[in-house]
Amino acid sequence: MRIGIIGTGTVGQTLADKLVSLGHEVTLGSRTKDNERALAWAEQAGPNGHSGTFADAAAFGDVVLNATGGTVSVAALRAAGAERLAGKLLIDVANPLVFSSEGELTLDPVNTDSVGERIQREFPEARVVKALNTMNAAVMVDPGKLSGEHNLFIAGNDEAAEAETIALLGEFGWPAEWIIDLGDITGARATEMMMPFWLRLYRHFGTTEFNYAFKRNA
Ligand code: NAP
Repeated sequence: MRIGIIGTGTVGQTLADKLVSLGHEVTLGSRTKDNERALAWAEQAGPNGHSGTFADAAAFGDVVLNATGGTVSVAALRAAGAERLAGKLLIDVANPLVFSSEGELTLDPVNTDSVGERIQREFPEARVVKALNTMNAAVMVDPGKLSGEHNLFIAGNDEAAEAETIALLGEFGWPAEWIIDLGDITGARATEMMMPFWLRLYRHFGTTEFNYAFKRNA
């Protein structure tokens, strides 16, 4: 599959590495064509890895992943271009983190809105699915890093897009029964609001290699 990744940070590169290792062809997109991180990634990725602008990545992908900071995601996707996102599965991994100078975390947007919803509103023809944002990038692409069953959340308005997302996550190693569908895209609020909790857990555990695992009676 051809996949465009909007974002050259840890998440973008980790997802890009995994997708190329699975045989997909990836364009890693940045604000500028000559971004050093994107060029270096493509250089070591082999023939299935390319770099370009956000617009190049969006045009390239049959599927597009948003891996930009949540406070700038709409701007990044505007640069990618609504016409290049129309009709496509757009998997949104972003969190709207805002850190104060004292290192205190708040979210923007929060409570009554979310990055996932903002993206879906701004790009109504894209098929947005919120996914993967509640865990560290290394766990996203390798659920076997943790023992036993643990959970991943998705939310989106388009059931077919959610099914395509579950299939792609299956390639990463996520069994479908570990994936919890929180319903329409407003479910993105719930998962984005897990981030202050995630950060407290990170400080408590002293490692990023953990995840949520829910117990329930059948
Ligand atoms: P990041 O540093 O949050 O974002 C990097 C990307 O944002 C770059 O591609 C950069 O463009 C772009 N960017 C920065 N400022 C911009 C602006 N003003 N306008 C448009 N684009 C801008 O990367 P990350 O740490 O990999 O995180 C990506 C997203 O995943 C975040 O929302 C984060 O909260 C979420 N997330 C992260 C993890 C994790 O393990 N780190 C886990 C779950 C979710 P250039 O390429 O041009 O520099």
